Amino acid sequence: MRAELMTSYDVVIVGTGHGGAQAAIALREQGFEGSIAMVGRDRLPPYERPPLSKEYLAGEKPFERLLIRPERYWVDKQVKLLLNLEVVAIEADARVVILQSGQQIRYSNLIWSAGGRSRKLSCAGADLAGVYAVRDKFDVDRILADLNAGASRVVVIGGGYIGLEAAAVLTKLGCKVILLEALDRVLARVAGETLSRFFEDEHRKHGVDLRTNASVERLEGDGSRIVGVRLKGGELLPCDMAIVGIGISPSVEVLADAGSAVSNGVEVDRYCRTSLPHVYAIGDCAAYANSFANGAIVRLESVQNAAGMATTVAKVLCGKGEPYTATPWFWSSQYDLKLQTVGLSIGHDAAVIRGVPASRCFSVIYLKNGRIIALDSVNASKDYVQGRKLVETRAEIPAEILADKELPLW
Ligand code: FAD
Repeated sequence: MRAELMTSYDVVIVGTGHGGAQAAIALREQGFEGSIAMVGRDRLPPYERPPLSKEYLAGEKPFERLLIRPERYWVDKQVKLLLNLEVVAIEADARVVILQSGQQIRYSNLIWSAGGRSRKLSCAGADLAGVYAVRDKFDVDRILADLNAGASRVVVIGGGYIGLEAAAVLTKLGCKVILLEALDRVLARVAGETLSRFFEDEHRKHGVDLRTNASVERLEGDGSRIVGVRLKGGELLPCDMAIVGIGISPSVEVLADAGSAVSNGVEVDRYCRTSLPHVYAIGDCAAYANSFANGAIVRLESVQNAAGMATTVAKVLCGKGEPYTATPWFWSSQYDLKLQTVGLSIGHDAAVIRGVPASRCFSVIYLKNGRIIALDSVNASKDYVQGRKLVETRAEIPAEILADKELPLW
């Protein structure tokens, strides 16, 4: 196919997720008057992902309420939505993105906000019908269609937030859920042991057959559709559906091919600039030296991070640049439990429990070298709000004071 020059925009945003949408919104809020196009693989206008494993799966929130902005907003703000299109290459010198169709779009500045793809199991049976990720609306619609058709035995593979949230909703919907975690505890990548054990207990109390140190050998099918999960060791867990929540691979290949520095994500500086001129990267796909991780290069997967980086780029492009230094925060909901996290607990050397986990209202405060670096609060919003300041100032407070629920944190 002969490549043709399609059109050009002052800012081209690749990805119509949280980061991409917020970049466009923030540009207009900052007074940017140039032309903006958002190019996205998705067929739908920008929508929120967190409810997919929560209220949308539970049938408590219709899709219209997931939209980040009403469709009219993008028209009114003159943000061109180019949907159902995949960017396959970038020519950084010519400042052009190339679509799968061969069409090209010229940019003055490019914001790469392409998120990540759900990781697939590498074992046999991973492509069987009835095996789902939870990354976009269509994944959840397929799960809901199976449930409506009578599926009720579900194996959830992966004890991260998405797997745990899906397990909680499916249990509430009446499914028989088995949750498999390969490590010796759930949430091992993101939280301390107290929180992991607390959520494991909660899921078991709600009827989930939660198994740690459980490795999948293969998925068994009847020719086309999954009928069970075979564990290493031989046990077969019969099921009607499997949900795989084993993390994402950041969408970085196109930028790497264009010559951008890539490690665990697209490497960016404090202004979200990649190593390519006029190309920025934000959100789940971007990695940067994070002061909340002691300067280590990390990639964060949260709405806060995508939105915060988006706003940073918008300000840079409007000549009001300031470095991205926002405090990381995150939330999750499972059953009637609201988890709120601030800071990054990676590398903590001590943890103080504030309150009693059995009361289902408590916090875990993480310390490194005596300083507070992160806090997880469960149904304890006050601790979260007060603890935020302690994380931001890396406060040094004796453990017995932190542990005393009668004393305010700040
Ligand atoms: P995304 O929102 O993933 O958007 C990336 C977009 O880029 C996608 O639309 C993709 O189709 C598109 N794209 C990729 N490659 C290309 C290409 N080559 N060409 C064109 N388009 C492309 N975070 C929280 O803080 N709290 C939560 O409770 C929470 N729950 C979650 C629940 C679920 C089920 C999921 C999936 C995520 C959850 N997250 C949560 C994480 C949060 O949604 C992500 O961190 C956030 O969406 C990241 O935004 P992003 O713009 O970087 O990527």
